[in-house]
Amino acid sequence: MSSNFLKTPIAYLKGVGPNRANILKTELGIETYADLLQLYPNRYLDKTSYYKINQLQNSGADVQIVGKIIHLKTVEQKRGKRMVATFVDDTGEMELVWFRGQKWIRENLKLNEPYVVFGRVNRYGSTYSMPHPEMELLKNHQTGLKVAMQPIYPSTEKLSTSGITNRVISKLQQQLLLDSKGNFEETLNAELLSSLKLLNRSDALLNIHFPKSQELLAKAQFRLKFDELFFIQLQLLSKKALRKQKIKGFQFGTVGDHFNSFFNEHLPFELTDAQKRVIKEIRADMGSSAQMNRLLQGDVGSGKTIVALMCMLIAIDNGFQTCLMAPTEILAQQHYNGLKELLGKMEVKMALLTGSTKKSERTLLHNQLENGNLNILVGTHAVLEDKVQFKNLGLAIIDEQHRFGVAQRSKLWKKNKIPPHILVMTATPIPRTLAMSLYGDLDISVIDELPPGRKPVKTVHRYDSNRLKVFRFLKDEIKKGRQIYIVYPLIQESEALDYKDLMDGYESIVREFPLPDYQISIVHGKMKTKDKDYEMERFVKGETQIMVATTVIEVGVNVPNASVMIIESAERFGLSQLHQLRGRVGRGAEQSFCILMTGHKLSEEARTRLETMCRTNDGFEIAEVDLKLRGPGDLMGTQQSGLLNLRIADIVKDNQILKSARYHAIQLLKDDPKLEKSKNLPIRMAYVQLTKDKAIWGYIS
Ligand code: ADP
Ligand code: MG
Repeated sequence: MSSNFLKTPIAYLKGVGPNRANILKTELGIETYADLLQLYPNRYLDKTSYYKINQLQNSGADVQIVGKIIHLKTVEQKRGKRMVATFVDDTGEMELVWFRGQKWIRENLKLNEPYVVFGRVNRYGSTYSMPHPEMELLKNHQTGLKVAMQPIYPSTEKLSTSGITNRVISKLQQQLLLDSKGNFEETLNAELLSSLKLLNRSDALLNIHFPKSQELLAKAQFRLKFDELFFIQLQLLSKKALRKQKIKGFQFGTVGDHFNSFFNEHLPFELTDAQKRVIKEIRADMGSSAQMNRLLQGDVGSGKTIVALMCMLIAIDNGFQTCLMAPTEILAQQHYNGLKELLGKMEVKMALLTGSTKKSERTLLHNQLENGNLNILVGTHAVLEDKVQFKNLGLAIIDEQHRFGVAQRSKLWKKNKIPPHILVMTATPIPRTLAMSLYGDLDISVIDELPPGRKPVKTVHRYDSNRLKVFRFLKDEIKKGRQIYIVYPLIQESEALDYKDLMDGYESIVREFPLPDYQISIVHGKMKTKDKDYEMERFVKGETQIMVATTVIEVGVNVPNASVMIIESAERFGLSQLHQLRGRVGRGAEQSFCILMTGHKLSEEARTRLETMCRTNDGFEIAEVDLKLRGPGDLMGTQQSGLLNLRIADIVKDNQILKSARYHAIQLLKDDPKLEKSKNLPIRMAYVQLTKDKAIWGYIS
């Protein structure tokens, strides 16, 4: 079918009409036939077979089991109640669990009657459990008319209440396949199809919606994931090539007095080899005539700040202004203070700009920026405001990238007629392949070495029941003059409960560590910036010994005297977050500790996370484990798919496919940089179509 057919507005499809078209658009972003076709099922129900309890695997698959409920109980838990049923067949027992709708269940479920249950199983310790199963009495369960494999599409509440159920979507897909006669244009070349043994596009689309077998489903998924990742890589690679060619940057030809006098007279320590290497890389980049767009990766504490400063000095040596942006006020302030100290008596003019900078100061600052009197501007998002204009911004540095989006980067680009060089610094250890596809348009430098003499943080896991011992340990540490962080989780969907946990925790700490012997700070997201800063300040100055906080302190805060990090409900944090938090300690000369507190009930995955944290301090090793563990929907995964707008591939789980897609994209462009060869026509057509529809990295234009 031609691409015109696929551009037909969805309202024209039989069974849709204007009303449904509207809902499909607002709820799922479906406007055309093509959009519907690319609404892929999230999962499939395989109701063709039945499992025995002793055959269950910890695979996260949906399975169907026949058995009886022999016991039903309500369990009180930290947050709310859950209802647990003991479910048995002739091979063993497992649990069915409900967190909602418990009244209905208690009144309607029948004990000791055969049921067919259907759902996803998880393993906790040695027990399998199925949350919120679909249940049907065996006697009502008809096997006759079941589809081999039923696709389950993404849905929303609005969709189901408007009658656009899964069945309806499935019907619409059928209609679309019928109208198109199941015939879709190929998007890859013959070489790729045969060398990778890929399904052709039509078969893949058919089988992704209505799989004829598990095997064909797997092939269809592979083909479509490859497709998606391949075209993203093509876009990233060609944009990068284009940028190298066309986007002229400032050429920082000289390394002058500022850099040299800092290097010779002010450097407080010997740079590590890794720091020297990345400074060289950045220098070379800024010295060429193309604009730099570079990602600097380095684990927490690896010393990115001084690298940033030295790059800024090069910019100043070449007569340009620079800015350094941080995601929070606390961090911006800290950078400002830190840089001030490093610069000592050097002739460099620096200022701080945040949301709370006074109006009078602001006006002065704007003037100094515009007439070029200011060399370095340190700040928060406030730097991006349109009012902030530079005379000649030559280099912009963004610290802790994961808090900034692509849109913000693009704003920086526009601060000058010629875009400034851009250096993005991140402490999130991302394995290299992943970094390449996420930031495929950036060049990458890595600081893979910590400054000498660091003592690795000792990490242990303790159960809540051992809290008293932990408190005793804290008192000993405080006696030695150390400071302590106690961090509580804050996760959006349960914010109210989390907040309560934090406050309960705070009160019990205050009881355990009373005035006047102990001073405690508290910082959380609901406080005013002013109050947050005040509390933070007290801790930084050593006036308080304990800092109770939510994850707001996750990024960048530097209090070298703090030597203990307690993480409450540690099982609720992702690995990379745990690692970031731990990075807040171990910055001074003293032995530091990280204590992961949890209850007794832990999922296998949580256990692996805790064990990994106790085993290693290496951010990259942790990132690799994280990559293996993570499923879609978790922190990084969501962020990434949000960024790239992926429909079927998962950058984390499909890392192998990603590597292959990247490899083949590179090969293709080597052989045919402009996609002019006739054998590559399908790729060219698909590529042109794609970039016309939406450029994924819109900021180039
Ligand atoms: P991050 O990469 O997490 O931003 P920082 O730049 O804050 O790390 O550096 C962490 C600490 O290490 C700072 O106190 C800094 O002064 C110190 N530091 C950085 N580089 C070195 C080095 N080469 N030798 C010794 N200490 C260093
Ligand atoms: Mg830092």
